Amino acid sequence: MTTTARTAVLLVDDYTTTCSRCLQGAFTKDIRHDRIASGWSTPDSRDRPCGALFVAISTRRLEYTEDDLRQLRPDLPAYKAGEVPRGLTT
Ligand SMILES: [Zn+2]
Repeated sequence: MTTTARTAVLLVDDYTTTCSRCLQGAFTKDIRHDRIASGWSTPDSRDRPCGALFVAISTRRLEYTEDDLRQLRPDLPAYKAGEVPRGLTT
């Protein structure tokens, strides 16, 4: 791999997960953003995942705890809504 590793944060919502970098749908279990989860919307064939490496998991839902997020991805640091350190998405 010669491409520069871009990074992103997984943002978990009630029914969908998105990538903090390109804001497209993502699969919570994926290591990097190399496929798009379309959620409720119709997949758009022009959409491309950004390929970023997921380095943390967070959410926009205030009721989600760090423990909830850790259960989804024990391998990633978990941050509550609004507490993601700057610079994780590059
Ligand atoms: Zn992405």
